[in-house]
Amino acid sequence: MCGIVGYVGKHKASPFILEGLKRLEYRGYDSTGVAILQNGAFHVVKKIGRVANLEKEIAKSPLNGTFGIGHTRWATHGGVTDANAHPHISSDGKIALIHNGVIENYAAMKKFLLTKGYTFKSETDTEVLCNLIAYHYAKEPVVAGENRLFASVRKTLLHAEGTYGIVVMGVDLPGEMVAARKGSPLILGLGDNENIIASDVSAIVARTQSVVYLKDGEIVNVTQKDFRVTTLDQESVSPTVDRVTWNIADSEMGAYAHFMEKEIFEQPVALENAMRGRFSEDGSTTNFGGLNISASEFRGIERFMFCACGTALHACMVTEHMIERFARIPVECDYASEFRYRNSPLFRNTLFFVMSQSGETIDTLAALREAKRKGYKVLAVSNVVGSTIAREADGGIYQHVGPEVGVASTKAFTSQLLIGAMLALYIGRMRDLSFGAGQRCVTALKGAPDLVRKALELAPHVKAIAKRYAHYTDMLFLGRMSLFPIALEGALKLKEISYIHAEGYPAAEMKHGPIALISEKCPSVIFAPAGEIFNKIVSSMQEIKARKGPVIAIITEGAELPAGLADEVITIPTCHEAVLPIVASIPVQLLSYYIAVERGCDVDKPRNLAKSVTVE
Ligand code: GLU
Repeated sequence: MCGIVGYVGKHKASPFILEGLKRLEYRGYDSTGVAILQNGAFHVVKKIGRVANLEKEIAKSPLNGTFGIGHTRWATHGGVTDANAHPHISSDGKIALIHNGVIENYAAMKKFLLTKGYTFKSETDTEVLCNLIAYHYAKEPVVAGENRLFASVRKTLLHAEGTYGIVVMGVDLPGEMVAARKGSPLILGLGDNENIIASDVSAIVARTQSVVYLKDGEIVNVTQKDFRVTTLDQESVSPTVDRVTWNIADSEMGAYAHFMEKEIFEQPVALENAMRGRFSEDGSTTNFGGLNISASEFRGIERFMFCACGTALHACMVTEHMIERFARIPVECDYASEFRYRNSPLFRNTLFFVMSQSGETIDTLAALREAKRKGYKVLAVSNVVGSTIAREADGGIYQHVGPEVGVASTKAFTSQLLIGAMLALYIGRMRDLSFGAGQRCVTALKGAPDLVRKALELAPHVKAIAKRYAHYTDMLFLGRMSLFPIALEGALKLKEISYIHAEGYPAAEMKHGPIALISEKCPSVIFAPAGEIFNKIVSSMQEIKARKGPVIAIITEGAELPAGLADEVITIPTCHEAVLPIVASIPVQLLSYYIAVERGCDVDKPRNLAKSVTVE
């Protein structure tokens, strides 16, 4: 979490940093701040709340320096206060620092620094790191041609446990910043006579598309015209300069009221982009360029293990269903945060998959590393090219849906569902799925964007329902088979952005406990697609209705519900089983979005949350 921007160049730093912080604000929005070095002094402005507050404050006395750092915070250590906001300045006034992550041994460092006379204005772990750099900086001999700041940051980090992405400035060193990372993303943007450090490319692409993705354990010295990367162990690194394909328009909201709304309505195009060029010529299977695993290796796989967090885990659960159905191989899904500590016994011939939109989710990254440590190959599904997970995986599949800014994931989720289904088809066709079944599946997947377009036409109907249900405080989401994870996702969406308590359950599980919650005060959203278990789901609805629970039924065309059973009916297009979870996601995304809007919630920046969870 948290957004970082550092700028050194020919333009005024603060407008660029503020613009970058707005683009990074989805990563954390408890407080924001900048430190600009001008006329030999740090000018620091920090404010709790949004970047807009900071902008107003800076407008009162504009900052002219061309060198500075800025931060949007997602608080871990210390409350949401102006004093705890970043940047932090060392108590001797020499060092300014912004930080993303957690310094786990900050207490011991602080104890040591107090004995050396350093003082603290905040409760953060970050200020401790800042003072420790100042301590080393003060002790570092001044040697011509050697960079004192770089040396002191390096020494400090050798003692730091935990995670960090940091950018540091020295008051005596205009035009020179030092940045380093371990566990938190940092990207260097190489501009024309200017350089930028940021935690996400969206803060960089306004100025340049040439970037260097820093790796864990690397430290970089950056000036207006130059940069030098080494490892913390002082080995020199020859960095690769990549080109970012996203442009600035991709991360702008346009005519929509929220990023979430924009991203919901972008889904047909997002799905087209995610599937482009990935179908075989004979139209019976899929191809993926970057799996780095041969067909014969795939045939030897006896088990799949999927690890992810939050929404991506729900996408994995749908993928489990698809792989078991099309490829007949057992699949296990686990919370990445549990897997990494659980020491679960693993089958030989298991292939690991991790899913993470940002490619930076720390728990998912840790699960990936744990699996690799144990000798397993790990493939990743991610949306961010060059992200840490994408780089550390043995191979993988990019989602190619452009930046997702809304904290509540929508287009990233449905593209993960699409990729999961395409993967299941790919593996199925290597095993016993027939040519004809493969062709039918390909035709269905190619038709998914149009079916989603059709489902999006339900928006006015769902909006009207949302108005009627926005005042409830509890809701159940029920689904079966591949729609059970969509019920979980529907409940998660609603919780995240409207703060209504919601639970997702397999529909038939309801009678084993959650039925105790049913009353006229607790509506249930139930997926009831036409098909083999339609009548069973109708029975669950009857049980709810018998207890006066309001029912919102999501059915497919042609499914006939007994009269009066559902209070609200949302009819989605009929579709192939590989596509059903994608299309069924649309009404629950719309429902949670419109309920949150109706309740006046801050849809794109829900309380306590941040996108891209880079702390444990
Ligand atoms: N641990 C730091 C703090 O609480 C940084 C949190 C962040 O990544 O925003 O201030």
